[in-house]
Amino acid sequence: MAVQADAFRELRDALPRGVTLVAVSKTKPVADIRALYDLGQRDFGENYVQELVEKQSLLPPDIRWHFIGHLQSNKVRQIAPFVHLIHGVDSYSLLKEVHKQGVKTGRAIDCLIQIHIARESTKFGLDLDELDPWLHRYERERQALTHVRLRGLMGMATNGCDEIQIREEFSGLEAAFRRYTRLPGWDTLSMGMSVDYPVAVECGSTMVRIGSLLFGDR
Ligand SMILES: *Cc1c(COP(=O)(O)O)cnc(C)c1O
Repeated sequence: MAVQADAFRELRDALPRGVTLVAVSKTKPVADIRALYDLGQRDFGENYVQELVEKQSLLPPDIRWHFIGHLQSNKVRQIAPFVHLIHGVDSYSLLKEVHKQGVKTGRAIDCLIQIHIARESTKFGLDLDELDPWLHRYERERQALTHVRLRGLMGMATNGCDEIQIREEFSGLEAAFRRYTRLPGWDTLSMGMSVDYPVAVECGSTMVRIGSLLFGDR
C-alpha cells in the first residue's frame, strides 16, 4: 500500500507541539520512506539492524534514524556511526557497549531505557521497580560513560486492550519518567503507536512511534 499522505498531514497537525512523530518504516520499501520524506518527515524508526543500515545508505543523510527494536550488543557497531536515538536499551551491558561504540565513532549516542509496562510477557524491557537501582548506578558511573546519553524512557502498552488499562500503563510510565528529570538531558518519553497514540499523548508522551497509520498495514 502507498503512503497515506492525508493521514500523515492530519496526524502532524493533530500532535501537540513538543511531541515528535517517528514514522515507523519497518518492512516498508525505500520508495515509501522517500515519499514521506518529500512531505517533510525526517524522523524514521526501524527495528532490524540490517534493514536500517541498508535503508540508511540509500536515503538522504538528514534523516534522523531511530532504532526501536531489540538491540543485540554485537550489532551496536553497525548503527553507531549514524543512529539518532536508540529506544530499546534494557541492559546495563548494552548501555556500556553503546558508550564503547560511541567512543570509536566519536559520537555521544542518545538512548532511552525500555520499560516493560504491558501485560504480555513477550515484550522486552526493564520492570519499573528495576529502574531505580539501574539509574542510581548510571548516575554513579556517568563520568565514565562519556559517549552515551540517557534521554528518557520508552514503553509499549498491552496489545488490543481496553483504554482504561492502556491509560494506566502509560500513566505509570509517565510518573516514572517524571521522577528523574534531575538527570541532565532527560527530556524524552517515547510511548504511543498507531492504535494508542491519542491516549499516550494525553498521558504526557513526547514522542510517538507510528507505522501502519502512515504506511498502511504490514
Ligand atoms: C512496529 C512498532 C511500532 C509501530 O506500530 P504501528 O502499530 O504500526 O503504529 C511502534 N513501536 C515499536 C517498538 C514497533 O516495533
